[in-house]
Amino acid sequence: MSEQTNDFTQWYLQTVQQAELMSYSPVRGSIIFRPDGFELWEHIQEEFNKFLKTQGIRNAYFPMLIPKSFFMKEADHIEGFAPELPWVTEVGDEKLEEPLALRPTSETMIGSAFSDWIHSYRDLPYEINQWANVFRWEKKTLPFLRTSEFLWQEGHTAHADEEDARRRTMSILDEYARLCEEFLAIPVYKGQKTPSERFAGAVDTYSIEAMMKDGKAVQAGTSHYMGTKFAEAFDITYLTKENKHVAAHTTSWGVSTRLLGSLIMTHGDENGLVFPPTVAPTQVVLLPVGPWKKNPAILEKLDKIFQELKAKGIRVRLDDSENSPGYKFHEWELKGACIRIECGPRDLENGHVMAKVRDVDGKVTVAFDELLAYIDEQLAIMPKRLLEQARLRNKENEHVHINTLDELKEHIEACKKDNRPTGFVLIGWDGSEETEAKIKEETGFTTRNIPFQAPIEKEVDLVSGKPAKHTVWIARAY
Ligand code: AMP
Repeated sequence: MSEQTNDFTQWYLQTVQQAELMSYSPVRGSIIFRPDGFELWEHIQEEFNKFLKTQGIRNAYFPMLIPKSFFMKEADHIEGFAPELPWVTEVGDEKLEEPLALRPTSETMIGSAFSDWIHSYRDLPYEINQWANVFRWEKKTLPFLRTSEFLWQEGHTAHADEEDARRRTMSILDEYARLCEEFLAIPVYKGQKTPSERFAGAVDTYSIEAMMKDGKAVQAGTSHYMGTKFAEAFDITYLTKENKHVAAHTTSWGVSTRLLGSLIMTHGDENGLVFPPTVAPTQVVLLPVGPWKKNPAILEKLDKIFQELKAKGIRVRLDDSENSPGYKFHEWELKGACIRIECGPRDLENGHVMAKVRDVDGKVTVAFDELLAYIDEQLAIMPKRLLEQARLRNKENEHVHINTLDELKEHIEACKKDNRPTGFVLIGWDGSEETEAKIKEETGFTTRNIPFQAPIEKEVDLVSGKPAKHTVWIARAY
């Protein structure tokens, strides 16, 4: 396997395949989610569905094929998505009267349904979520992080006024941040996207950005306030208490299977995947070691532990395959099993096992009667420890004292020389697209977001030297 520090992307590509999370499909940029990869997504779904339930937001399903005329209704939306839309134009040998797009997102389809369903202020807020696959024919793709077909949830809501819609936009962003930090142990940066990075058709786009181990950014989730633009295009109007017809304010928001890529790039190490137990497909793996075949009591003991852990709802495997212990250690480290439990003849005799936690060096001895408590404790601590480690690494790779384009270039050169990440750079921005374009062209850095809470406020624009209107995180991004 490639070393992380030498070629991070290569390390990533090899790891996701060797650990059997995904395989390439014959279609460019689309991937097969193998069971371990899909299971990660299932745990994220379970967690986010819990939140939706507390909010009274229900799941629904809308068709994947969207008539071209729907897209034409909102000009900014079609303009933004047109280059990435695949179309269905014929069935058998007959041409369709109207081309149908494979959905890149469902504002249009859901907007049209909302128009039928929403009539009065009593119907509002109207809030729906869908779990679905979407298509965006991206030019550059990378497994999980950017694929031509991906899985996501997309929430769509309609509200009586701007205040309520903005409240929902923000509450979702907060939940995405919680999901990433508490559940996936990925620290995130919350903020507002600049206009050039806004969702096509949105009034405001907010994002959570995550920093990968190599210092590059991933836009991990987005929440959009649409104003009344989609409501006007799709006639989502309602009758107010005063009997007036007015347009609703809408929002939409999504996180995708990109989160899987973020997980891997945040926690993975030279030996392979590292997952917090909250999402790990294998939380505990039990391995018989030594001459265990001659001593059936070992497997009996492990099987008993297996049954006990399973009964507690722990995702546990017992690997009694023919492979050597060394091979098994390597394989389960690669796959990101959180705790490895070994038991050989001497361990059995002494009434204990050897335990190795994936992200901690060294093995420890744990007595049989303390094992369940030990496992509970370790599984509970691990997400907090991984989050803390990632936070510390992020801090090292945040740069807040770079004030000019030349300084940024010097920073990049110095990082290249020392083979260290360029990370997130906090800059002053005069609000112009020229500045964003120049930075991108000359350094490959893009604006990530305008943080709600910047570590410091910047005075002048990085490029023009004019007074800064905003303080912005910039970084190279996936
Ligand atoms: P958007 O609808 O463009 O705001 O996208 C919602 C979320 O989907 C983004 O914040 C990304 O996390 C994710 N996403 C966008 N494009 C892709 C892609 N090609 N592959 C995987 N995830 C994506």
